[in-house]
Amino acid sequence: GDATHTTELVVIGAGPGGYTAAFRAADLGMEVTLVERWPILGGVCLNVGCIPSKALLHAAKVIDEAEAMASHGVQFGKPKIDALKLRDWKNEVVGKLTGGLTQLAKQRKVKVLHGVASFQSANRLELDSGETIDFEKCIIAAGSESAMIPGLPDDERIVDSTGALELHPLPKRMLVVGGGIIGLEMACVYAALGTRVSVVELTDSLMPGTDKDLLRPFRKIIDQRYEAIMLGTKVTGMRATTPGIEVSFEGEGAPDKEVYDRVLVAVGRRANGDKLKAENAGVNVDERGIIKVDKQMRSNVPHIFAIGDLAGGPMLAHKATHEAKVAAEVAHGAKVAFDARTIPSVAYTDPEIAWCGLTETDAKKDGVDFEKIQIPWAASGRALSLGRSEGFTKLLFDKHTGRVLGGGIVGPNAGDLIAEVGLAVEMGADAADISLTIHPHPTLSETIAFAAEGFDGSLTDLY
Ligand code: FAD
Repeated sequence: GDATHTTELVVIGAGPGGYTAAFRAADLGMEVTLVERWPILGGVCLNVGCIPSKALLHAAKVIDEAEAMASHGVQFGKPKIDALKLRDWKNEVVGKLTGGLTQLAKQRKVKVLHGVASFQSANRLELDSGETIDFEKCIIAAGSESAMIPGLPDDERIVDSTGALELHPLPKRMLVVGGGIIGLEMACVYAALGTRVSVVELTDSLMPGTDKDLLRPFRKIIDQRYEAIMLGTKVTGMRATTPGIEVSFEGEGAPDKEVYDRVLVAVGRRANGDKLKAENAGVNVDERGIIKVDKQMRSNVPHIFAIGDLAGGPMLAHKATHEAKVAAEVAHGAKVAFDARTIPSVAYTDPEIAWCGLTETDAKKDGVDFEKIQIPWAASGRALSLGRSEGFTKLLFDKHTGRVLGGGIVGPNAGDLIAEVGLAVEMGADAADISLTIHPHPTLSETIAFAAEGFDGSLTDLY
């Protein structure tokens, strides 16, 4: 119908940014309306992003570890993959979380409306149903979408990450276009399920922006497992044929053409800021669909905030939720700001790759006076007993003060381990703070303590 709603705060989009902002604002006592175009809450992260991909990566890990145990005296049979059942399980995991959100919204008396929202003015939204919402304040959390290469044939064998998460039918031979985290995580899943995987990346490095040394142990593994890894290579065309998708390449050492029965396009994501008629509210959106914000997450229109993937910076769920709390608190009148020193990055590949704070590449580029301590996991009893000694932990310290500037970890569970480095960076901890903290033995976390103990200055105060 064309009902008119009025609300103190409206939040557009129910992803990790939007639902977190809505819940925080409601907890603070605001009257909140949450608008979501999909029938289910949770956004990209819960429905077609972080959570389903991690469920499938878990299955991949179990398969790979079972295989690795064969050389240590425990042999399993060849895994029988029921892709539909695996997909059902993944969907169940997602369903538990999204169902939980609906409950949480109810408990907090957050009014949820389903529909596509756009601005009519700086104080009114319109839904595609014709309903309108008059609001005092607004938090835009409409996220991002997979970027597609223009001009590709319309063919169901060419998919984005959402299509790849559907798993069905399992391809024999797949090309992943884009060597970023999302593409490489899906590559790990499909390789474990038995697909012959190739990766093509335009730049000269996988996961651009990551220190090259962190990639080395991962490269060693995928160089053996994947059919081809084509760096500095451009996809110049795709043609749908009966046997498969014919892809043409341009790059040193790359083949002219190859045929694949699935192509995953994972070349980045595009912010949704320009799909909301934000100009009707006077909100500036840049050419990449990003809404620029200040430290309080305000757009150029002070009572309209933007958070998450469409607010610029790394497109990560934990960044969206952190910004969400800031925006909700500011909307409620608190004098707070987004002031995080670091946003950790994690690739949940096998091995996992994680880093936070200053990277070694940037430290060198910026002429920072730092000391690096690197602990190979071959020195960790826990890593050896996991049969995984290829990883390492490195920490960067300020050479003079011993402060932890950043760190990188590669190996199983690196994503969990990096949280300690994040805490150290955020608190301004120094090497002694970490080395004087008793780390449980035998754990992978000890490698962080070893790195701190290795810092030159860490013992000098004692003598
Ligand atoms: P989104 O999650 O994109 O949510 C936006 C919501 O707004 C959507 O529900 C959308 O339907 C809705 N919406 C959009 N326009 C409108 C409109 N006009 N009206 C109403 N509703 C609207 N991040 C991590 O941190 N860790 C990971 O492991 C990770 N893995 C990922 C794996 C994959 C395959 C993908 C694709 C992403 C992954 N990400 C990961 C990124 C993460 O999903 C995003 O950073 C996060 O979802 C951003 O949250 P958001 O709230 O900004 O937006």
